[in-house]
Order: sequence, then C-alpha cells, then structure tokens
Amino acid sequence: MEQPILTIVVPCYNEEEVFETTCNQLKDVINRLINEKYIGIESKLLFVDDGSKDSTWDHIVQAYQNDQSVNGLKLSRNFGHQKALLAGLGEAVKYSDCIISIDADLQDDIHVIKEFILKYLQGYDVVYGVRKKRDSDTFFKRTTAQGFYSFMKKLGLPLVYNHADYRLMSRRALEQMLRFKETNLFLRGIVPLVGFKSTNVYYDRKEREAGESKYPLAKMIAFALDGITSFSVKPIRFITLLGFFASFISLIAGIYVLIQKFMGHTESGWASLMISIWFIGGLLMMSIGFIGEYVGKIYEEVKNRPRFIVEEKVFKHVETSHLESRIHK
Ligand code: UDP
Ligand code: MG
Repeated sequence: MEQPILTIVVPCYNEEEVFETTCNQLKDVINRLINEKYIGIESKLLFVDDGSKDSTWDHIVQAYQNDQSVNGLKLSRNFGHQKALLAGLGEAVKYSDCIISIDADLQDDIHVIKEFILKYLQGYDVVYGVRKKRDSDTFFKRTTAQGFYSFMKKLGLPLVYNHADYRLMSRRALEQMLRFKETNLFLRGIVPLVGFKSTNVYYDRKEREAGESKYPLAKMIAFALDGITSFSVKPIRFITLLGFFASFISLIAGIYVLIQKFMGHTESGWASLMISIWFIGGLLMMSIGFIGEYVGKIYEEVKNRPRFIVEEKVFKHVETSHLESRIHK
C-alpha cells in the first residue's frame, strides 16, 4: 500500500513569537515520519493566518519560500479559531489522505502524531487527542473547562472529554464533516456526529511556548454558549419547566392571598406582591434571554453568510497528476 499523504493544519492568530519553533518542530515530525515510511513524501504543513495583526503571515510566506512542505492560507480578517481551522481543513482535504489539526502554540504534545498515524493505518477514521490532566492550565481555566464538560454531558452532547481540537481525521470523515454547513461552528461537537470508527490517544498538555492565550474569558464564555445552544434545545425545555413551576407557585400564593383577604389582614399583601413581581419578572427576562439566544442562532444561520474568506494562498503543487489519481480513486 502506498503511504498516506498527511497534512497538518495549524490555525495562527498573532503567533509570530512561536511560529519559528512550531514550524521547525512540526517539520521535524513530518520528515521523521516520511523517513520511517509511515507517510508519503507529499505530506505537508498548512498554516492558516486568521487575520493576524502582527507579522505571522510574513513568517508563513518566508517558511513557504524556504521549504517544500509548507503551505499557507491567509484569511481576509480575524474569523476566529474554529473558522480558521475549518478553512484549513477544507483546503487540506483536497490533497491529503489524512489531516491533523493542532494549535500553533504547541501545547499539545507533537510526539503523539506518530500514534495518530499508526491508528489511522490500523483503520481508524477519527483519532482524538485527549489530555491526561490539566496541570499546565491555570486553576481558573481548569475548573471552568471541567465544569463545561460535565455540563455538556448533562445536556446529552457527545463531546469527547478533555479533547480540544487536536485530532486526526481521514479524508472521508472530513469530507462528511464539511457537509455540516452551520455558521455557528463548534467543531468538536460535530466530529462525533460524523461517526466512523474512532479512538482516543492520550497525552500531557504543556504550557504555551510563547505569546499569550488568545482565548480570554469573554471569548471562552461565548464559545461555551455557542457549544450549548448549537447542539441542545434543553435550555428552552428548562424554561418551560421553570414556567410550570412558577405558575404552580403563584397558584399556591393566590390561594394564600385569598384566604388572607377573607380573614381581613389585607395590607400584609405588599410583601408577597413585591416578591412575586420580582420573581416573575426575573423568570420572564431569563426566558426571553434564552429564547433570544436561539432566535439569534436562527438569524445567523438563515443569512447563510460565508463562514470565512480567503485572501491569499501560498501553495506548492507537487506532482498533482499523481495526486489527482489518488484522490479520485
Ligand atoms: N486562534 C485563531 N484565531 C483566533 C484565536 C486563536 O486562529 O481568533 C488560534 C491560535 O493562534 C492558536 C489556537 O487558535 O493556534 C488556540 O488559541 P490559544 O492557544 O490562544 O487558546 P488556548 O490554548 O489558550 O485555549
Ligand atoms: Mg493554547
């Protein structure tokens, strides 16, 4: 059997500080795997510049000029991690048999890439990189992330625990994933929905090599909310339950008020009135907020806007005729 062509997709946003190291380390991994004859010589790196404001794109172009195995894709502005990744995956799927996605900061252990490939060669279509522990994250990030996963689990989503976007996908799995056209993207929620044979590979997550996290708290919350509302209508159902509960309470309160009235202590009604106004008001606002969240989602999906826009591409075509024949086999 011919060796599979691997492409490693790396989304980059303001990553000039780590680019050099990342690029070299990943190139080493690829070259080693090529030498060991696990993957084909056409295997590549694909860096996606997500509208960086620093010199990341210049670094990518430089690396492309110096090296056979580096490709680059530049988005027209910052679209966010998930969309940058999507852009890269959609590009890589055209000329690869299997595709690995990894963050530019190399927090994810690149030594397990070989294991990814071995699993792929054994016939797995999706290989999830799963963190063993979260020592390197701050206490805050660790607890919020943990809370998020267990919450998602309660909502009944098939998330892989402690798996971020470090994974391998076969071409056919990726092709199917790209058919999920939603604007609100939560890739790690979609991949399990694609199905096919999958497995986990475990690794330790390290500190960021350099630079700082591009996921501040606000972005993390937005990401989590996206994840929840894109995959589950349970929050809406929860509101309905709350509504039932509130009506029940007000029924009891009504009976109580009537009794009080007939017994002649009417001015005591003020407290209960105030409480119920606030209670119902809060409930209503919360419910409308939840529903608004979904309406907003629908609004965005209905517009059907492009999920990303490519501004520039640096790409080396190697023996495409040979590749074409493989891809359309
Ligand atoms: N990233 C991106 N666009 C963004 C934010 C981040 O492409 O708007 C990339 C970033 O360059 C990195 C990956 O997404 O390769 C993960 O970001 P980061 O490491 O900052 O997140 P964390 O690991 O702290 O969750
Ligand atoms: Mg990171």
